[in-house]
Amino acid sequence: VPAYDLAPGTLLVAVGPGASGKSTYAVTAAAVDVVLCLDSLRREIGGDEGDQSVTPAAVERQNALLEQHLSDGATVFLDSTNVEPHVRAQLVERARRRGRPIVALRFLPDLDTCLTRNAQRPVNRQVPPDTLRWQHDLAREATPDALLREGFTAVHHIEPAPTGATVSDDALS
Ligand code: ATP
Ligand code: MG
Repeated sequence: VPAYDLAPGTLLVAVGPGASGKSTYAVTAAAVDVVLCLDSLRREIGGDEGDQSVTPAAVERQNALLEQHLSDGATVFLDSTNVEPHVRAQLVERARRRGRPIVALRFLPDLDTCLTRNAQRPVNRQVPPDTLRWQHDLAREATPDALLREGFTAVHHIEPAPTGATVSDDALS
């Protein structure tokens, strides 16, 4: 159960590089009605969740589902990296149009941890290490202040723990 307040109908957006623990966290987030996961959508569309060539189609599907669930008033957790500012800008705009709060959840283990976990996954689930470094750099630039300036309602940092993720209280809200 998340330790942060969650208004019904909130759009929760993960911000974190590959192998930072987003999907692991998603299964523990009890107050969430719907988890939208880009990897799963890639698998649905292209048969392989690691196949980046189907990402544009998966993003389109993700946005359609997002629109549907937001209009239903569901609390949605968006389980994708969202490290690029232009990607987040579209999400902020979408939530604003629907009048929904949009909350960022930052996942940011140190780079070595991400690289190690990444290397331990099945080959088709591994992100190229250079891509992971790039994602990690961008994720570090997405500070709480920067995210609030982008229009996020609140920002929380998810602290990974061996027994599961917990919310640390350096979070702004
Ligand atoms: P991607 O963006 O590539 O989907 P992700 O952020 O969803 O990555 P996860 O799949 O949740 O990352 O986690 C990556 C790997 O790290 C998994 O193998 C998972 O079991 C492991 N892992 C996640 N959280 C922890 C943790 N707190 N302690 C140890 N291992 C963890
Ligand atoms: Mg994942």
